[in-house]
Amino acid sequence: MAKQEGRLADRIRKDDPIVKYGDPVLRQVAEKVKSVPDDMPEFVARMEDIMNAANGVGLAAPQLGLSIRVIVYDVGEGFQAIVNPVILKMSGEQLDPPEGCLSMPGLQGVVKRANVVVVKGFDEHGKPLRIRGEGYTARVIQHEVDHLDGILFIDRAEKETLHWVSADEEDEEEEEGAVNMTRE
Ligand SMILES: [Zn+2]
Repeated sequence: MAKQEGRLADRIRKDDPIVKYGDPVLRQVAEKVKSVPDDMPEFVARMEDIMNAANGVGLAAPQLGLSIRVIVYDVGEGFQAIVNPVILKMSGEQLDPPEGCLSMPGLQGVVKRANVVVVKGFDEHGKPLRIRGEGYTARVIQHEVDHLDGILFIDRAEKETLHWVSADEEDEEEEEGAVNMTRE
């Protein structure tokens, strides 16, 4: 697949790389990566750059227009990529902070998530990994894995909590450290 279509990173559009709500790719079930290709580290590095440039804490490949099962995240405890992530266990419950999505800038809402997840998959070099995520890390992993199944946070949000925030408000919240996933 990668061979036919060129290097993964080359398939990310140059301008405005993050696809927005309404693009059908966000509703597709993404394909499993059959064997981790040589250019996966390069692709993941691009994902990291794009996520950071957007002040995000997580990003899934479909958000860059590639319907493949790859997610990245960094909640301030180090960057992590997971290829073919599978959530093995979920436990507990959390409600805060409200979530947002880089594919739906400015929209936030409360989403009930498991407080702890155990996820398995591969790193960008094809090495198997298993991660236990708690709290915010668990929230981000669940949000990103949902993207691979065509599920968006608005599908899971408590409907009455969905609201728009201005860019200024988002910046303030970031400065206060109150949020979050806003720019997930
Ligand atoms: Zn998202």
